[in-house]
Amino acid sequence: MTGLDAKEILRRSTLVAGAGGFIGGHLVGHLLGLGAPVTAVDVKPLTEWHQVHRGARTLQLDLRELDACRKAIENCDVVFNFAADMGGMGFIENNKALCMLSVLINTHLLMAAREVGVERYFFASSACVYAADKQRSTRVVPLAEGDCYPAEPEDGYGWEKLFSERMCRHFLEDFGIQTRVARYHNIYGPHGTFDGGREKAPAAICRKVAQAVLSGSNEIEIWGDGEQTRSFTHIDDCVNGTLLLTASDYSDPLNIGSRELVTINQLVDLIEGIANTHLRRRYVPDAPLGVRGRNSDNSRILIQLGWEPSTSLETGLSSTYSWIFDQLVKSELSAVR
Ligand code: NAD
Repeated sequence: MTGLDAKEILRRSTLVAGAGGFIGGHLVGHLLGLGAPVTAVDVKPLTEWHQVHRGARTLQLDLRELDACRKAIENCDVVFNFAADMGGMGFIENNKALCMLSVLINTHLLMAAREVGVERYFFASSACVYAADKQRSTRVVPLAEGDCYPAEPEDGYGWEKLFSERMCRHFLEDFGIQTRVARYHNIYGPHGTFDGGREKAPAAICRKVAQAVLSGSNEIEIWGDGEQTRSFTHIDDCVNGTLLLTASDYSDPLNIGSRELVTINQLVDLIEGIANTHLRRRYVPDAPLGVRGRNSDNSRILIQLGWEPSTSLETGLSSTYSWIFDQLVKSELSAVR
C-alpha cells in the first residue's frame, strides 16, 4: 500500500486475530489509543482473555475456518495475525501437530484478506524459524534474517512459521497483498500466560520464584543445566516495533528482538534480585530445552526502520515479576474466600 501516510494506516479499521492472547491484547490497547476502530477476535471465550479493552468490538471465532476469517475481516483494512496454538518449549515440543495446524489460521486469513483487498497484513513469525545448526553453542552468533536457510527450523512450530512466512511472501508477490512479517525473539511482560504449561521461560521463572517466596519453600526447579542462552524482548518494545514495521514499506521478514544475551541461570539471578531472595536450584536435565543458544541480530531492522529495543531486561522483569506476584496473591486470596 503505497501513497498512504504511515500513521494513517494504523488508524484504519483493524482486525486483531488472537486478541485474547498476550501480544494481541497489548496491541489492541495501543491501536485504540491511536484512534483505530478495532475488531478483536479469539477462539477463547471472553472470560479467558488476558485483556479485554472497552472500545474494541469482540468476537469469539475459530479462525482455522475460512468462513470465520471472512466474518472477522468484514470491513477491515488492516489485519494483525497473532492467532496460533502455541506456548513455551514445554508445549511446542509435545504438541507439534497442534502447532502445525495454525497454518490453517494464517492461510485462511490471507485468503479472506485477498477477497476483501486489505491494505496491510501483519504476520507474527518467530525466531524458531532459524536453522538449528546455527544455534548449537551457548556462545551463539546472533541470528540475522538470512540464517533460516537452508531450512532446519524448530520441528512443528518453526516449520509452520516458516511456511506461513512464505505464504505471506507469495500473497504479496502474486496477489499484491501488502504483507509484513516480524520474527519475534522471546517476548515477555505483564498480562501473559504464566502457568498451565504454555508459559515461556521469563514468566515461568517469575512464577516459580514468586511461589517460592510466598510458600517459603526456598527451592526452584530449572530446566536443563541453566547454561543455555537466550535474549528476551519486553512487550512495549515488541508493540512499538510491530507498529513501525506494519506501517513501513519493508516487506521482507525482520527480527524484533533484544541483543541482551543471558543464560537461564543469569535470568534466575536477575529475578531473585528483584524478589530479594536466593533459592536452592534443582536442575532437571531431561526437560524440554530447545536450542542451546539464541540471540537476535538487529542490524537489518536498525538500518531499515531505525528500531532498537529500549527496555533493559532488569527493568522489564521487574514489572513482569510484580504483576505475576500480584496474580498469585489474588488467586490465593480467592481460594481462601
Ligand atoms: P498467546 O498464546 O498468548 O496468544 C495467541 C492467541 O491465539 C490465544 O489467545 C489463542 O486463544 C488464540 N488462538 C489460537 N487458536 C486460535 C484460533 N483457531 N482462532 C482464533 N484464535 C486462536 O501467544 P502470544 O505470546 O500472544 O503470541 C502471539 C503470536 O506471536 C503467536 O503467533 C506466536 O506464535 C507469535 N510469537 C510469540 C512469541 C512470544 O515470545 N510470545 C515469540 C515468537 C512468536
